[in-house]
Amino acid sequence: MKKRSAVIIGGGVIGAFIAYFLLQKGWQVSIVEKDRFGSGSSEGNCGLIVPNHVFPLNSPGSLLKAFRSMLTRDAPLHVKPRLDLDLFQWFIQFALKCGQSDILFSARGRHALLQSSFDLYPFIVEREELDCDWEKGGSLHAFRSEKEWRACAEEGAAIREFGIVAEQLDRRQLLRLEPSLAPDLCGGWLYPQTAHLCPEKLMASMHGMLTQKGATILENAEVTGFDATNNYAQSVRTADATIAADAFVVAAGAWTPRMQKVLGCRIPIQPGKGYSITVAGAEQVPARPCFFEEKSVVTTPWPDSFRLGGTMEFSGFDDSLDRERLAALSRGADQYLADPSLGAVEKEWCGFRPMTYDGLPIIDWSPRLRNVAVAAGHNMLGLSMGPGTGKLVAETISQEEPHVDPRPYSLQRFIRNR
Ligand SMILES: Cc1cc2nc3c(=O)[nH]c(=O)nc-3n(C[C@H](O)[C@H](O)[C@H](O)COP(=O)(O)OP(=O)(O)OC[C@H]3O[C@@H](n4cnc5c(N)ncnc54)[C@H](O)[C@@H]3O)c2cc1C
Repeated sequence: MKKRSAVIIGGGVIGAFIAYFLLQKGWQVSIVEKDRFGSGSSEGNCGLIVPNHVFPLNSPGSLLKAFRSMLTRDAPLHVKPRLDLDLFQWFIQFALKCGQSDILFSARGRHALLQSSFDLYPFIVEREELDCDWEKGGSLHAFRSEKEWRACAEEGAAIREFGIVAEQLDRRQLLRLEPSLAPDLCGGWLYPQTAHLCPEKLMASMHGMLTQKGATILENAEVTGFDATNNYAQSVRTADATIAADAFVVAAGAWTPRMQKVLGCRIPIQPGKGYSITVAGAEQVPARPCFFEEKSVVTTPWPDSFRLGGTMEFSGFDDSLDRERLAALSRGADQYLADPSLGAVEKEWCGFRPMTYDGLPIIDWSPRLRNVAVAAGHNMLGLSMGPGTGKLVAETISQEEPHVDPRPYSLQRFIRNR
């Protein structure tokens, strides 16, 4: 019997896991990537697999922060003041999703994909021998302000409702666990059930593993359109090729809205620019990932390097490295480390998180082209939701029973909100 074929547009972590699960189901798979495989947001991120991040950013407090940040260029959240109707509408919809029931709806949808991915990761890493510095050792949230630390108890209680273990630590307990943290911090929260890995190594290993299993990965090939008849796509076009398939998946991260016309639906994803700095072989650093809460800085340790990451900037697709924002990242971390002198800088990076206004990804069929699916908009959690998303998309395309309820990720929610 002839193998069914699929083309995946976008070689990020989402496209990679979709390819993996489609190959497992016997599909012939091609990935078409406009740049280098793994060079988008999936490259220099913080590498955290965090099933505890069930709650979306939506809250009246974060809206207020966004408006204040227009005036402060080095604030953790920055909105570049400009006339952009899509961004304006995005913020309006964000504001409308700050109610308790919307937050809970989003949290349930996020939890399902986060938990499924967290359960799948160790099996995939072991079975496919992915060389990616995988470690399941928990993560810490550290606080300078007693008020913020205490306020987090409420969130801790709400998170436990999802079956997630969260332990509140006072200063003494925090420093006993991580002696490299600054002695004047007031306390922290430990989430023992999280993991981390090196995203660059993951993407390189997945490239090798997918090609070895028979996938074709085309790089430097931007998809510019579809050829379709009777609402079915026949092929995708790049500058040099036309690639035919039975099914297609648009997994183009923050760039997905560029295809909204052909998909037949508004795709409200905004690029949320973030930065990271990687230093070589730092010694006096926390042994497990840490969130420095008030500064929104994350640190991740690997055997031979250490990364600081964070900041959220809504400035379109401006891919310049803003020195002021990079400096703010290191300044933010300095306040939480006993010895802030880190090693030599190995890499400075920025990437575009695919941000939806309700914190939920989009996993659904295109309303116009019946054999084209969309899998994008994973916000700040694409790495943490990769395996669950890949499995769900492969099940949907293969017309099998989905392992998680796909309804929260439907495109219909944007059609309703128009
Ligand atoms: C600073 C920072 C830290 C982060 N830390 C974490 C973390 O610790 N844990 C976590 O879970 N998430 C984290 N994230 C978020 C995570 O990186 C993203 O959610 C995830 O990488 C999105 O994956 P993706 O495959 O959808 O997008 P991408 O990785 O951006 O991939 C999309 C790909 O599609 C390609 N493409 C676009 N248009 C076309 C086209 N027309 N034709 C062909 N190819 C196309 C792009 O070139 C790109 O390579 C972080 C993000 C940032 C910026």
